[in-house]
This record gives sequence, structure tokens and C-alpha cells, in this order.
Amino acid sequence: MDKFVRFIVVAALSFLPFTQEGCKRPLEDGVHKISSTKAVPINREAVNESVRDIPASYDVDVVVVGGTSGGVAAAVGAAQKGAKVFLAAQRPYLGEDLCGTYRLWLEEGEVPTTELAKKVFAQSPATPMQVKRTLDEALLEAGVPFLYGCYATDVLRDGGGDIAGVVIANRSGRQAVRAKVIIDATTRASVARMAGAVFMPYPSGLQTFKRVVVGGEAQSGNGIEVRKMPAIPPVKDGPACGAVEYVLKIPMKDGSFASFAQAEQIARDKTWHRGQEDASETLFQIPPDPMKGKKSLAGPWPGAAKVDLDVFRPMGVNRLFVLGGCADMSRDAAEKLLRPLELMGVGSRIGEAAALEAKGITTPQNVGLHAKPVLAVASGDVGENLSGIRMMQAGPATIVASQRAVPVIGEYDVVVVGGGTGGAPAGIAAARQEARTLVVEYLYGLGGVGTMGLIGKYYYGYINGFTKEVDEGVAGFADIAENKGGAWNIQWKMEWYRRELRKAGADIWLGALGCGAFVENGRVKGVVVATPQGRGVVLARVVIDSTGNADIAAAAGAACVYTDGSGIAVQGAGLPPRQFGARYTNTDWTFIDDSDVIDVWRAFVIAKDKFKSAYDLGQLVDTRERRRVVGDFVMSPLDILNHRTYPDTIAIARSNFDSHGFTIHPLFLLRPPDRKEILVSVPYRCLLPKGLDGILVTGLGASAHRDAMPVIRMQADIQNQGYAAGVAAAMAAKAGKSVRDIDIRALQKHLVEKGNLPENVLTDKDSFPLSKEKVKDAVERVANEYEGLEVVLAQPEDAMPLLREAYKAATDEKQKLAYAHILGMLGDATGVDTLLETVKSQPWDKGWNFTGMGQYGASVSPLDSIIIALGRTGDKRAVKIIIEKVEQLDPNSEFSHCRAVAMALEKIGGATAARSVATLLKKPGMMGHSFTDIEQARRRTPASDSDTMERNCSLRELVLAEALYRCGDYEGLGGKILKEYSRDLRAHYARHAQAVLKEKAGRSGKDRR
Ligand SMILES: Cc1cc2nc3c(=O)[nH]c(=O)nc-3n(C[C@H](O)[C@H](O)[C@H](O)COP(=O)(O)OP(=O)(O)OC[C@H]3O[C@@H](n4cnc5c(N)ncnc54)[C@H](O)[C@@H]3O)c2cc1C
Repeated sequence: MDKFVRFIVVAALSFLPFTQEGCKRPLEDGVHKISSTKAVPINREAVNESVRDIPASYDVDVVVVGGTSGGVAAAVGAAQKGAKVFLAAQRPYLGEDLCGTYRLWLEEGEVPTTELAKKVFAQSPATPMQVKRTLDEALLEAGVPFLYGCYATDVLRDGGGDIAGVVIANRSGRQAVRAKVIIDATTRASVARMAGAVFMPYPSGLQTFKRVVVGGEAQSGNGIEVRKMPAIPPVKDGPACGAVEYVLKIPMKDGSFASFAQAEQIARDKTWHRGQEDASETLFQIPPDPMKGKKSLAGPWPGAAKVDLDVFRPMGVNRLFVLGGCADMSRDAAEKLLRPLELMGVGSRIGEAAALEAKGITTPQNVGLHAKPVLAVASGDVGENLSGIRMMQAGPATIVASQRAVPVIGEYDVVVVGGGTGGAPAGIAAARQEARTLVVEYLYGLGGVGTMGLIGKYYYGYINGFTKEVDEGVAGFADIAENKGGAWNIQWKMEWYRRELRKAGADIWLGALGCGAFVENGRVKGVVVATPQGRGVVLARVVIDSTGNADIAAAAGAACVYTDGSGIAVQGAGLPPRQFGARYTNTDWTFIDDSDVIDVWRAFVIAKDKFKSAYDLGQLVDTRERRRVVGDFVMSPLDILNHRTYPDTIAIARSNFDSHGFTIHPLFLLRPPDRKEILVSVPYRCLLPKGLDGILVTGLGASAHRDAMPVIRMQADIQNQGYAAGVAAAMAAKAGKSVRDIDIRALQKHLVEKGNLPENVLTDKDSFPLSKEKVKDAVERVANEYEGLEVVLAQPEDAMPLLREAYKAATDEKQKLAYAHILGMLGDATGVDTLLETVKSQPWDKGWNFTGMGQYGASVSPLDSIIIALGRTGDKRAVKIIIEKVEQLDPNSEFSHCRAVAMALEKIGGATAARSVATLLKKPGMMGHSFTDIEQARRRTPASDSDTMERNCSLRELVLAEALYRCGDYEGLGGKILKEYSRDLRAHYARHAQAVLKEKAGRSGKDRR
């Protein structure tokens, strides 16, 4: 029996009596939180998951699980027969059977006949972009909604026990898809296995796999056969590159995900050559363990048009088709079936049959996950996000999942989730410290933004210690020094990480998604992992959340910050085209929220449109700003500019305030950030989510103010930070201690020896609080071009009385204004008369528009800044003066002016202000920039890879609408616009608009815009 299935069975039979103490229904914010439980030793085969409501996000006739070419053909076939269909793809694209395995060629004699096949293979070999985009288009045209990055985790049943859909896991959490018929288009027929279909056992011993490598020299050796493939002309007129298909014999223990993960690594060991430019993401295999079907095909493949569809229906399981190599047929026939033209042909037929079958089934009732009551289990519970397909989605319908046992699929000292910029180094460091280490990475390559994200170049960074080792190691793949525009060879960097992990004894699970945490009494004790074969828990003494988005910490219940009702500021994101052999493709053309699968879907679909002539599309969403935890320490720009030192520094960062958009910190509203590089000490506490133990968070998910993060997020520094986290985790795991109780000095000494840290960190103390003399001195200086402002704002309680005195004493007008300005920004009205006079007398100056790439310095004009400060004084006399300014604005006005008046008026405005903002919004060109469907998104997203116009228009409309709403609204216009944006495909706008709408109209806003 498959290990996964066996675990479920064993778990269901063998647990201790379960106490309901640990159970809680999901809380309002959608994260299933865990209450305290009595400590009971962990059962080693399964853990407890309490009863919970899972949001039901789709209600369809047919659900297709798996985004293969056959799966897409099936979805289209079903839709054409009038069925309502949803498709859940596992990869961040469609066509995983072709692009994931790199089987992009037609064999001799294969001629596409269907419309879809003709488009997919408009040329052979097809480029990945051609395949992926064609399949997207096919679903869009057929009106089939689909999502990327989803793994099926459970099969739903109705009250009568019949199949009624699936539960899927993705970066938005878990959701239910209610459906009458399932088409299981996964490689290993995972859904059929979950549904209880019977399969041949997976044979242990040597198994045959195929892997394609493009570029480099063919490797030879024991158990390796080589077939030369036609050269790849990657894009029109591009250089051709030789390709090799390897047939490999690899030992397999069993059919578990862990065995496949191990086989993948062995295959990469055997076939690596430094000339490699591209390769299969996953191994291809004709499954040796077919299912028992309603019928069995013993002879040769009869062709897609003739094959009996009962061979695709598991025996004893109704309402389910298996569209893949596990169908019940001879293995020779399965090999033919898995050729893309045949798979698409059968897919269309199965889709049509599924649609027909669905017609005869009444809507399933009492749909849920009904587990037999289990005799459970250890204390603790699974924490996960259950807020729906969109985090902010309000009150979706739910299905009940009864209390159950989640199988344990691994046990390690340290589990790193996310093998990216911070995660790969963390894994290497932990494993080198002899911790049993697992790295779980969703994509099929390590290195994150610096490799899969195509940003193969440092920007600043403290290039010492581990980072230096990485660079030397990567450069070591070359015979001669090679330096193409300062960018590294992405394949080499991925391979260096992989090798070092393996050398140190770590396990690597590629294609696996961390989607929850196992938590007991606030201590994270494991990670819930969704794999192509299902969902299980990997127990860990310490978890390192290197998702860059705090996925695991958030699931465990950590407090996090991101765009919300108080703020819409977010750095520009990219999603780059991938040209063959490209190393560095930096884009900034949108905003994307990694944890909103609708938004991610929108970005992937649009990007393929934008970059359709490229060889491929990047797979990693290149977000510069992501969800961050609130840690034991939250680093602010004031800490950075005051060169704050700490007793627990574990990393040094070196960069500047590379903000890719607008800043929100009061410091920068008063005095723009400059472009000077700065060295920053990063304390260990930034990695510790407040209130949680057993977990460290690295990279973009660590604890820092959004305006501080740009200085500490550069790759060289995140690599060293990840390394430090790995050593710290290993120390805690080895000592069996809390991550807060490790010997921080010992960690620092190790990092000093490694070269990551300078020696002074060993004696550094917290340099805060600043002395009162320093504050006094800064207040005296600050009127001179805002010199020392970072000191003044670091201790406002000390500075305020001095600022008030200084304002009163100042005789110089410029100085008086500076004091009034700072006081106003701090919410103090002492200098309001000066501010009123200034705003009244000064004409609009040059404002600022959203600038993504290359944005440094001011994001508000001097007058914008005074207006914001004036609003913060709360003095109602300001309303009239600001309204006069509003009247001078029009569609050619910059975003910063709109933002400034919006920020001020929503604090102090009322009906008159509302009317004037509404008048501005009604000017031609100001409204109508939301996009709530993909066609609008396509039309309104410009072709440029660093566009800002679309964002400027939306941001301007949104900030004005919310100010209008908060001023009490006018003819319902503010509410109407906010409602539109609350359905926007771009999650940041949607979440922000929804949060504002939840406030009572007329309530004044906070200051985060
Ligand atoms: C467009 C762009 C341009 C940049 N330019 C530069 C530059 O020129 N130079 C420079 O030094 N820095 C640059 N940066 C900054 C720097 O690259 C990033 O800040 C840094 O790489 C982030 O590291 P990370 O480890 O936090 O995230 P990542 O490197 O993104 O790693 C996160 C990893 O976790 C994986 N993952 C996420 N969620 C899950 C999950 N739930 N389960 C399993 N796996 C998961 C992802 O697939 C990814 O591999 C840029 C960043 C961006 C986005």
C-alpha cells in the first residue's frame, strides 16, 4: 500500500482518545487558530486536525485536477458540452506534462489534428511559452475558470457517501471545490488514490525515468542511456542548442513522495553539466502501478478515438475519471496514451463524458469531509488559512471537515520552507551543523528571486562570509572567469545550492508547498506540506519560514502586516519574460499579492500576453514587498538612520532606500530618503514572530517596517541572514531549547569566524534609547534642512516639548515652518497657523507620480507634505484652504497631490470636503480604472515591462474614493468606487477597498498611505 495511504489508515486506527480542548472553529480573520492544549507526546504517525469549516470557493459540474494538456482538453470538452467546469493546475502554468518534463517535441509521424493540438504544436519543438499561453487561451475561450499552484488534498463526499468534489491547497490556504464529477489529470492519479481506488503496488527497486537536459555535454555512466534530440531554436532567430533525453535507472524505495523527491535529486546528480541551459523540472515515468479500472486494456493502444473510456474509471469509485498513465491498460499502451496528441484526444472525450454524466446527477447535498471519528491523538492542532480563495473574501459558503488525523510524512530537526534566497542558505547551514534537515520548495529550482526569479545580480549587499562562499562556489563552475554584465549563471547557482545541501546531508523536496503549521501551545512543531500526492505533516524541532511571505508563521497564527485598510503602499512587483539562457531580467509592472491566488493567476495570464514572443515566462512571482511578521523587534527606518546597534545582531545589510514606489513613514513624509548606501545591523529578534516559538522567519517575511525593508532585503544580505537562521535553528534543535534561549554569543562567534559579521557585534549593546542631550541637540539642528530628524522622531515624547518651545522661539520664517511642519506631522497643532498660511499662499508645486523602477527620494512634494501635516493637526480651518487646492487638481495632476489632499481631508473633512473630492473624481479620466475581469485587465495593462501609468490612475482613484467615503461620501460615489475595487483582480486594491468599506462611512482614516 502507498505509504501515504497506509499512514492514513494506521492513523485512523491507532490514536489515543482525543480531547476537544484543542479545537476551535476558524476565527474571523480566516486563520484557523489554536487554543492551548495539555502537552501530550506527539504520535509519530499522524497528528490531530480539529473540526473546521473549509470555504467552498467553486460549485461546478466537473472539476479537473491537474493542468496537463489532456486536463485542459478535458476541461474544454466538458465546457463545450455545457458543463460548468473548474480546473486546478498544480504548477504555476498549464501544460505540466509537456513543459514540466520538457517533452516539447512531436515524434516522427505525429501530426496534430485538433485545433488545440495544432496551436500547441504550431512548431516542434514548441517553446514553453507557446504551450503555456495556448492552453491558457483555450480555457479562457471556453469560459473555464482555473487557478495555478493548487494541490488536491482531499476528496469531498455528499451525505450519501458519493464523490462530491475536492479540497485544494494553495498559497491562499485550503478551499473546497464542490463538483459532481472529478477528472483526475494528475501524474500519479493522486485524487483517485484519495478516493479509495485500488492500485497495483509500486515496485521497489530500479525504475526507469526520463529527463531532458538542454545544452552542455551528454553524460554517461551506469544506468544512463542517451537519446539526442533535435536542437532547440528557443525563440525566432535565437541560437540553437542541443538537447538530450536521458533514460535513467534509479532505485525507488516505494511510491511515496519522498522517494520521488529523492529520485529527482539522483537524476540531477547524474545528468548535470555546466553547459546546461534548461532541463526538465520533473522526471517522466510510465507509472508502474496502474489502477484497477472498470475495464482493463491488455493489448496495444487503440488510439484516442477508440479507447474504451471505462479503462479510465476506477473500479468501485464512481464519478471519477483518471486521465493519465495510471489508467488501466498495458504499460505499452500507457506510453502511447501519454504522448500529448493522444492525451489531448482522450481528454476531450473524457471531458464530454464527464459533462454528460454530471447532467444526470442532482446537486450533491451535505457535502463535507466526513472522517470516521478517530481515536486521536497528540495535543496540538493544524493551523492554516481558511479565509477563502481571496483572503479578504467575506463570508464564503463553507463545508465542514470533521476532526481528523493528518499523516506524518517526515520528521526532521530543522525544516526550511521555501528554498529561495534565504531558505537555501538556511538549509545548508542547518545541515552543516548536523541537524537532520529538509528543504521544502514549491518550484523546481533553489535560489528564489536570484535564480527562478531571474534577478541574477546583486544590488549592494555586504558581500562577505557565506555570501562570499556562494559566489566563489558558483564561479567555480567556470573554466575561465565569466562575468556577463555582472550577473551569475542561474543554472550554476541553483546547482551549487543543491549540491551543498546534498553534501551536507539535507533532503530536498521540490514541488512541495508549505500550507499550514502544526502547533502546540504556541510552539510550532511541524509544517503541513501539500505535495502532488496529497497532504501531510513534517514534524520539526524548529521550522524556518523562508517563504519570504511568512506563509507558515501566518498559518500558525503570527500577527502579520501588509496592505490593509490603513495602507495601500506596496512596492512594484514584476513577473519577467524568460529568454533562453537569460540571467537578469528585472521588471516592475504591477502589484501582486503572493498569497492571493486570483491575483497571482491574473498576473501569470497577463504576463504571457505581454511577453508572448519570449521563450518562456518566469515562474516565481517577483514581489519586492510581501507579508511580514510582527516580530519581537520591528525594525524601523529610524533604527537604520540612527545606525542602531543591538546585542543580538546576526546579519549585516548594506543598501539604500530602494523603495520602488512611495514611502509612508513620517520621517520620509518630512524628509525624503536619500540614495546613499548604509550599513545596517539586523537583530535576531526580527526573525522571531511575537508570541510563537519553534519558528524563525527570514527574508521579505521578517519583521521590519515596510520602509525599512528595502535596505535589508538585498540578496547578498538575505543569503547571510538565512545562513544565520539555519545555524540558530540547528542550535535550538540540538539543545532542545526554545529558539529564544539559544546561546546568541556562540551564534555570533560562529558568524564572525565565518566572516558574516564584523567582530564588533560581540560587544555591541543596544544604542537606544538615545540620550536626552542628543535629542535636544537634534531639535536645535532640525530646522536646518531637517538635519537630525531621525533622532527627533526616534523619541517624540522627549522631542515634543522642545519642538514646541523651538517653534515659539523661532524668528526665521523657514525655521518656524520646519518646526510647525514636524509638529503637525506628529499630530500636534502648535504650529497650525504657520501651516495654514503656507498652504494658502503657496501654489501647487511639482508633484510625484508612482514610479516603480529607479524610484529614489521624495514621493511627496514639499507642499504635499505640509498639507498632510496640516491635516494631522486636526484643525478644521484647514478644510476650506485644502478644498481650494482640490479645485485646482485635474486628471493631469500627479498622484502625490491627490494622496496629500486625501490624507488631509479624511482626517478633518466633512460634507463640503466630500463634495469637492467627488467633483474632482468626476472629471474625465479620473474614474474607471479598476479591473474586475481578465478581459478588462488585459485591455488596461500596457505592454511595457515597467509601466506605471495604470498604477497611477488606479491609485489616484482609490485614494480619493476612500477619502470621499471617510468624509461621509457624496451621492454614494466613494462607496461605489470602493465596491468596484473590492472586486479588483489586484489583491492589494481589493483588500484595501474592502477594509475601508468595512469602516463606517464618515470615520476618519489612519495614517499609512
Ligand atoms: C523584481 C525584483 C528585483 C530585485 N532586484 C534585486 C537586485 O537587483 N539585487 C539584489 O540583490 N536584490 C534584488 N531584489 C531583492 C531580493 O532579490 C529579494 O529581496 C530577496 O531575494 C528575497 O529573498 P527571500 O528569501 O525572502 O524570498 P525568495 O527568494 O522569493 O524565496 C522564497 C522561496 O520560497 C518559495 N516558496 C514561497 N512560498 C512557499 C510555500 N508556501 N511552500 C514552499 N515554497 C514556497 C518560493 O518559490 C521561493 O523559492 C529584487 C527583488 C525583486 C522581487
